[in-house]
Formats: sequence, structure tokens, C-alpha cells
Amino acid sequence: MAKRDYYEVLGVSKGASDAEIKKAYRKLALKYHPDKNPGDKEAEDKFKEAAEAYEVLSNAEKRQRYDQFGHDGMKGGFGGAGAGMDMDDIFSQFGDIFGGAFGGGFSGFGGGGGRSRRTKGSNLRIKVKLTLEEVAEGVKKKIKVLKLIPAEGVEFNQCGTCGGNGQVRRVTNTFLGQMATTATCPACNGTGKTITSKPKDADEFGLKRKEEVVTIDIPAGVEEGMQLNVRGEGNAGPFGGVPGDLLVVIEEVEHDALKRNGNNLHYDLYLNFADAALGASAEVPLVSGRAKIKVEPGTQSGKIVRLRGKGLPSVNAYGNGDLLVNIVVWTPQQLTEDEKAALEKLRESENFKPNPTHRDKGFFQKVKEMFS
Ligand SMILES: [Zn+2]
Repeated sequence: MAKRDYYEVLGVSKGASDAEIKKAYRKLALKYHPDKNPGDKEAEDKFKEAAEAYEVLSNAEKRQRYDQFGHDGMKGGFGGAGAGMDMDDIFSQFGDIFGGAFGGGFSGFGGGGGRSRRTKGSNLRIKVKLTLEEVAEGVKKKIKVLKLIPAEGVEFNQCGTCGGNGQVRRVTNTFLGQMATTATCPACNGTGKTITSKPKDADEFGLKRKEEVVTIDIPAGVEEGMQLNVRGEGNAGPFGGVPGDLLVVIEEVEHDALKRNGNNLHYDLYLNFADAALGASAEVPLVSGRAKIKVEPGTQSGKIVRLRGKGLPSVNAYGNGDLLVNIVVWTPQQLTEDEKAALEKLRESENFKPNPTHRDKGFFQKVKEMFS
């Protein structure tokens, strides 16, 4: 059967806004919802057709591809909608469509509510430690993840209690009229399947635990506490269902010399008193390599030298931060007799008296002014 145009399915124009698309889909989903049309095959087909159209048109990337190539653009690995959606996908879409309108009280429509069959695996969360060098460049990390995978040699049947729905039905009165709502089938835990035979190491969902190596592509500029979502690398779903996601939480390993503040880096440069007075050239570390900076004669402790672009890249690929070099003049803590004598001679010099009007604003005030 030839597919209808997605815009036609939803009854919206090619230029429809996201809000118009959502509204149109909501209307159709309510009209053709299986709970309102029990046993009506045509309504079910319409319901699925609308869900598929919405799946594509509500996603900017998929919509653009559909606009350019039509249904052909949705084939292959792209989109996922090409092969038609199953009911689970459709009901899992409902979280963001009906979430606000129905609140949490009405389980018949909610994304994680009573209706959708349990076929998706659970998400896994891991922490990944990154050095500053890895944050600066981005990195591919190979990580061992202990996760549930499908066990071999598992045989299962459709659940006799719920007939494979994973749900037992109940009729209730709602403001949309009388509707069948559903509860998780207690016999199969909502999976719709029961195991007939399995190897010893498999659990009741036909899964077993195994350590697998997952390669995670971490973009440059990520920060402590950020979470990356690697799709489909979480626990396998029961009985061959869709796997959950792997959530990767970023942790930063502290750098010896450079401190991070957003995309900027801070470095405390300790300067010899003579260099600060006479002027000198000094070296500062970068994330990779070093840079030379010029120290002007008469440089005060607390001066900040800004090296533009020598900080970290933004994770949104929007330029680089700076390296802020905070100069600290080092006071000698041990002196030879000769050094003491030399300094004694300078102690009373007018030039060595601090200027009474000089006030250091402090590091953070100076940085604030620098960026305002
Ligand atoms: Zn069941």
C-alpha cells in the first residue's frame, strides 16, 4: 500500500509550525485511540499512520529529510519510522504529547503509564573521568560496561493471562467518556511473554549480565556533571525488546597547574621579585605545550594577563575560552648574608615604598571587568 503524504495525514500545510503539527496529531490520536475504538482495525491503522507522520514531522532533522526526499528518505537506517511503528513506540511518544494536558492522574495515556507494554530495557548510568587534555580535544573512550544482554537458547510463549498485551483491561469513566484503562499484567510483568525454557544464567526476561566494551564519543568542552546519552547501549529489553540507553556522566580529573572556570582556564604564575621589577619573559603551561608571556617592568602581584583563545572549546562548538594568568610576586623566604646586605641597602629607597593609593581589586573583580 502506498504511503500517504505525512502532511496530508496530519491535515497540516507544508509550512506548519511545530505547535500546529503537535496540535493536529493530538486531535487524531484522541480520535483514533484504540481505547476509544476497541477492535476497530481501521481506527488502529489511522492511529498508527498519524503516529508515524508525527514521529517524522516533529523531528527537525527527519522533517527536513522527508521534505527533501519524501518517503524514500526515511528508508534504511534513517528515521526508524520507515518500517512502521509498533504500539510501544507510539505510546512512548505520548509522554510529551499528553504529559501536560493529562497530568499524572490518567494512566491510560501517559508515556510510562499503564498502557505501553514493557519491552524497553532499562537505562544504565556510568561515570567517566576525563583529564583536561581529553576535555580540550574530545576523546573516544572505550569503557567496560556490565549490562543485561539477551541470553541464547531462551524459548518463550505469549502470555496466557493477557494474551500478549502485557496489560489487563479495566473500564473507567473519564472526562472523555467511558474508556478502557489498563494495568500491568501480573503474570508476565507487562512483557506479554512467559518463558518456557531458558539456560541457567538467564533471568525471567531471557537476559543475562555480561561485561561489554562500549566506545563512547565524547565531544570537546564537556564539563563536570554533564550527561551524555548513548542510545541503545543500556540494558537489553525483555524478550528481544529495544535496549535502554547508556547515560555517561562526566567527571573531571584536576590538572596540576591549570584550573577551570567555564571555558576559561586560570593559572597562577609565581614571579621572581627581580623579574617583576625589571621586566622579563616567562613561560606558562597550556593544555598542550607552553606559551611565552612578556612581563612588563614594574608588574604588580595580582596583575592578570589574558591569553585569548588558549582556554577550552565550548561544547556547543562556539569558540574557545581564554587562559587567564594571575601573576603572583614571590617573596624570598631564605636569604644569604650577601643578599640580606643588598636588600638592606634598598630598604630605605623611595622607589621601594608602596604607593599608598594602590589597591588591588582582587582576582574575581578583575576577571569580571575583563569580560564586561
Ligand atoms: Zn501477561
